[in-house]
Amino acid sequence: MTASLDAYWMPFTANRQFKKQPRLLAKAEGMHYWTPEGRQVLDGVAGLWCVNAGHARPKIVQAITEQAAEMDFAPPFQMAHPKAFELAEAVAKLAPEGLNKVFFTNSGSESVETALKIALAYHRARGEGHRTRLIGRERGYHGVNFGGMSVGGMVGNRKMFGTMLSGVDHIRHTHDPARNAFSQGQPAHGAELADDLERLCALHDASTIAAVIVEPVAGSTGVLIPPQGYLQRLREICDRHGILLIFDEVITGFGRTGSAFGAQRFGVTPDLITCAKGLTNGTVPMGAVIAKQSIYDTFMAGPEHLIEFAHGYTYSAHPLACAAGLATLETYADDGLLTRAATLEATFAEKLHTLRDCPNVIDIRNIGLVGGIELASRPGAPALRAYDVFLDCFKEGLLIRTTGDTIALSPPLIIQTEHIDQIVATLRQALQRVA
Ligand code: PLP
Repeated sequence: MTASLDAYWMPFTANRQFKKQPRLLAKAEGMHYWTPEGRQVLDGVAGLWCVNAGHARPKIVQAITEQAAEMDFAPPFQMAHPKAFELAEAVAKLAPEGLNKVFFTNSGSESVETALKIALAYHRARGEGHRTRLIGRERGYHGVNFGGMSVGGMVGNRKMFGTMLSGVDHIRHTHDPARNAFSQGQPAHGAELADDLERLCALHDASTIAAVIVEPVAGSTGVLIPPQGYLQRLREICDRHGILLIFDEVITGFGRTGSAFGAQRFGVTPDLITCAKGLTNGTVPMGAVIAKQSIYDTFMAGPEHLIEFAHGYTYSAHPLACAAGLATLETYADDGLLTRAATLEATFAEKLHTLRDCPNVIDIRNIGLVGGIELASRPGAPALRAYDVFLDCFKEGLLIRTTGDTIALSPPLIIQTEHIDQIVATLRQALQRVA
């Protein structure tokens, strides 16, 4: 590489540390990346939870290429192009019954902001403008914009900017290793933690609460799987109090847990779903909010010439993203990928849990094709042990992701058993090497 590393201010990266010892990727295909020197690296994380169909899928590459030549951009305000409608329809078909209106964004963060605004505007439109409070959950991650960060529950993101949005509160997280360590699939204990929402209703009065947002499976804060019955209970409490339930499915959307959406996997239907990442297989930035018909209808009450929801992005439903999205959903259908994680879940879990006896492993959790391996932190140096495992794995040809001292795995859904074996063997050696 000829460019200096100076000018690029890298996101969510320890810039100085990285630039001393850069890790570059130059090419990708199927289950693999290659470094600029030509070293093959197995992708254990679908890029960043997004390349669900594997890299460089021909149909998607062709769709993007052709679309760029045919029409590069079309204004999305008061104008549209056919693929926006086609993709919205295709996404609505995959969504749980009743969620059939699709608002396009360009990222997970934008989807979250959009969903929170829809929730507030919806209540106002139906004469309940006093419902302004937004409830998130400790250890939630909802992107980095002000709304998502405020309802999020990650101290690292909140400490600097978390006070910018008032009227936000949080229910307790569900991580309970004392009762649930080494659970496979949904942990048995913790449904009652949903009752924490009742506590907030009692504190603030339910009539002030617009929406609750949770990830069905929290990824970025350490792979936290919902306890059996937890999401059902949250749904019941929301229904009882007229509170909207938002599932942030930015990582669980598009097959990650074995169904199109986590909502279907867990059998709980929210009022709004936010998604992104797998929507275009990570190729062109795109996100979406999927809303219930009744929410959309509530907006459609005023004079017809007025804009019903004053919100949108220059790149909402961008033609390249729509082309990529359509080809992605076709690829998922062609290869049966939206249910493949369910087929592989038992094998993935069995092999992953063999790492239980490795040094410093204090918990292993899994669902669909998501795995979390939690390590004991080094005294006084949280996150460093997992980071060293990450470096060791990358050196040995495996890309993983770490969050705190938890290793997160979310491989492309095209993964084969031999890749799972390679992931587990590489991790075993790394865990044995890293003290
Ligand atoms: N919500 C969840 C649950 C996520 O996992 C992420 C990203 O990982 C986001 C929102 C933010 O998405 P983006 O980085 O595309 O803005």
